[in-house]
Amino acid sequence: MGKLQDKVAIITGGASGIGAATAQLFVAEGAKVVLVDLNEEKGQAFAAELQAAGAKAIFIKANVTDENEVAAIYQTTIETFGKIDVLFNNAGIGRVTPTEELPYVEWRQTVNVDLDGVFLMAQAAIKEMLKVNSGTIVNTASMYGWVGSPGSAAYNAAKGGVINLTRSLALEFATRGIRVNALCPGFIDTPIIPEESKEPLRQVTPMQRLGQPEEMAKAVLFMACDDSTFMTGNTLTVDGGYTAQ
Ligand code: NAD
Repeated sequence: MGKLQDKVAIITGGASGIGAATAQLFVAEGAKVVLVDLNEEKGQAFAAELQAAGAKAIFIKANVTDENEVAAIYQTTIETFGKIDVLFNNAGIGRVTPTEELPYVEWRQTVNVDLDGVFLMAQAAIKEMLKVNSGTIVNTASMYGWVGSPGSAAYNAAKGGVINLTRSLALEFATRGIRVNALCPGFIDTPIIPEESKEPLRQVTPMQRLGQPEEMAKAVLFMACDDSTFMTGNTLTVDGGYTAQ
């Protein structure tokens, strides 16, 4: 029996990086997965790869900031798999821009995806989960939800928001069977980090390496499955020691 045997999990940002690694681990643990991403080519190819390996997986191209597309994700999930047990609320974008040069439109885009998108996906999941008083949500925040850094005002503000959104939803639904927790990754080797930034980020990480997406997936699995039944409104910071400094 897998840790997510016959559970249905929606994974946003599921075509790449942390989301894709988590999808791999979830199907290995018996889950049926719904990959949601803007990147149709990568998402379709990855879903086909999972299906070819015998997994139950579908891909939905959708933007987590669009209320109608979010509603369609849940409709398709229910039509295909009949229920929703787990939401890994992970889609995100990030860019480094000095604050004095940051166009308001870029601030809005970042907060829109990294905070509003997390809210919209969680709200829609909760409406389904309340029908059965059961479900788990794992939001991807960041260690930059805990500490600041220059040039990332919008991203860091949004990720701090995700941490307190997580606590607030956890408290609101604590007696109704829905647990809500968050992952706070450090620097992880995925396409979101530009190639030229990888070496300097490795050097400032106490463990002197970048994290791997598979190492995030294990923390997500812990929060999503019944290994963490008394954990809600909390975070796992998996950062190679960065925030211990
Ligand atoms: P990634 O770029 O590999 O994956 C992010 C995915 O999200 C992409 O496939 C992208 O197409 C998708 N996406 C972006 N905007 C979307 C939208 N509006 N609707 C649907 N899909 C959308 O990067 P990753 O590192 O795997 O990032 C996953 C999450 O982890 C993000 O929330 C990111 O902020 C967070 N995170 C990453 C790091 C890191 O160092 N890699 C550190 C801390 C937090």
